[in-house]
Amino acid sequence: MNHKIIIAIDGYSSSGKSTLAKEISKKLKYKYIDTGAMYRGITLLAIRKKIFNSDLWNIQNFMPVLRDINFKLRWNKKLNGTDIFLNEENIQSEIRSLKITKKVSLIAQIPEIREKLTLIQKNFGEKKGIVMDGRDIGHSVFPKSELKIFMKGSIEVRSYRRYQDLKKRGEEVSYEEVKKNIIHRDIMDTSRKISPLKKSIDSIEIDNTFLSIEEQLNLIFQLINKIKKNNHIIV
Ligand code: C5P
Repeated sequence: MNHKIIIAIDGYSSSGKSTLAKEISKKLKYKYIDTGAMYRGITLLAIRKKIFNSDLWNIQNFMPVLRDINFKLRWNKKLNGTDIFLNEENIQSEIRSLKITKKVSLIAQIPEIREKLTLIQKNFGEKKGIVMDGRDIGHSVFPKSELKIFMKGSIEVRSYRRYQDLKKRGEEVSYEEVKKNIIHRDIMDTSRKISPLKKSIDSIEIDNTFLSIEEQLNLIFQLINKIKKNNHIIV
């Protein structure tokens, strides 16, 4: 019998979802799946195919490309994280740029793209034992997941986190530019027609503005232990 569970972590941009998801997956020896990276990967393809600069921008032009995409995840020991491969190319670093970040929420509004990525994400979770983060995991991709977390944090703390990440990557950005982008993505992600970012009624909210990663993990493992006890399972 499979005792593993699915942990869905949704929330606002730069609310610390992936940091938390990575730590949980390491402790439980579960797979970590970053669905934002998939939307970013599709955005990278769209930019490379010049569909954003083209008058021909039309999802029909993009459908053949979309049909053949293939995502793979591989553990990178050196970086202590998962690398994401799109059509066998490691895109992990390239998709984090501000250029991609500025376009990704546009791509994430397109129904055909959401449909395709949701299907791939459901397949990743077939055998359970995963921690998946994104915007629509708890209410749309895995509505029956055993543990649903919804993350938020002040706009200042979230912007500063993203600003530091981008600076570390060597990008020339200002804090104000990063903050503007996060506010813009929050609006686009919460107001889109299909599977917008929202908290499901059965998810647990964590505001980590003043919480350390250890405090967040303590909270999560208390919840996991409760699930284990109530269901008599070994997670
Ligand atoms: O999590 P991350 O910031 O990498 O996500 C980038 C963007 O991808 C989000 O701002 C959102 O527009 C989109 N996204 C989504 N649904 C998901 C994950 C990400 O719409 N499950």
